[in-house]
Amino acid sequence: MDGIDRLQKWIDESNKIVFFGGAGVSTESGIPDFRSVDGLYHQHYSEPPETILSHSYYVRKKEEFYRFYRDKMLCLDAKPNEAHIKLAELENEGKLAAVVTQNIDGLHQMAGSKTVYELHGSVHRNYCQRCRKMYNAEYVLDTEGIPKCDCGGELKPDVVLYEEGLDDNTVTKSIEAIKEADMLIVGGTSLVVYPAAGLINYYSGNKMVLINLASTPKNAAADLVINGKIGEVFSKLHV
Ligand code: NAD
Repeated sequence: MDGIDRLQKWIDESNKIVFFGGAGVSTESGIPDFRSVDGLYHQHYSEPPETILSHSYYVRKKEEFYRFYRDKMLCLDAKPNEAHIKLAELENEGKLAAVVTQNIDGLHQMAGSKTVYELHGSVHRNYCQRCRKMYNAEYVLDTEGIPKCDCGGELKPDVVLYEEGLDDNTVTKSIEAIKEADMLIVGGTSLVVYPAAGLINYYSGNKMVLINLASTPKNAAADLVINGKIGEVFSKLHV
C-alpha cells in the first residue's frame, strides 16, 4: 500500500482527525513560507524576518515593521488551495475535529473551516492599542506608515510576534483537541518554531501522518511520512 492509500484508509477509519499545519500549507496559494529556498529567510532585507517580526523591533521601529508587514505578510489576494478545501470538507462531513494552525493568513476559514485554532493569531484582526477597536487587514493595507485608529491610537496586528507568548485559551483548546484526536495529520511545517511545534507531542495515538516537502525533526516519530506538496497530496484524497 503506498503512502496516499494508507492516508486515505486512515482518514476513512477516523472521525476525530486533527490537522496541525504551518506556512507550507499556504505556499501553493502563493504565500511564501519562512524556510524554503524561496521563503522569506532567503530574500534580502536589512534584517532577518525573525528580527523584524519580533516584539522589540515592533516597539523600536514600527514604520519599518509595517513596511515589511504590508509587503510580505498581507497577501490578501491569496485563495485557499486543495489542502484548505479538503480539510474544510472533512470537518463538514464530521470527520475532522479541528485545524490547529501556525498560519496567520485566514485561508482555512476562507475555505469554510469552522474550528480553527490560530496559535499565532491572524492578520485579519488588528486592534487599537488605546481603545481596542478592531480593524480588518484591508484597512491596514490601505494606510501608510503606522496605521491609526479614529481615536488616534496606534493599531497592532493580533499576531503573535517573536518574544510574545501564545494565547492560553487557544493553546488549551489545541491541546485538548490533539489529545482526543484519533488521527493527527501534520503538514507544511518545519516543526522548529516553539512552543507551537511541541503541541503535537500531546498526540498519543498510532496514526500520526507527516506531509512535508522537506524532512522535519519529527519524521522518526511519525507513523507515516509523505514527502510531497500538501495541496497535491490532498487533491488525490476523496472525502
Ligand atoms: P516554515 O517556513 O518554518 O516551514 C515551512 C515548511 O513547509 C518547510 O518545512 C517546507 O519544506 C514545507 N513546505 C513548503 N511548501 C510546502 C508544500 N507545498 N507542501 C508541503 N510542505 C511544504 O513554517 P512554519 O513551520 O509554519 O513556521 C514559521 C512561522 O512563520 C510560523 O509561526 C507561521 O506563523 C509563520 N508564517 C505564516 C505564514 C502564513 O500565515 N501563511 C507564512 C509565513 C510564515
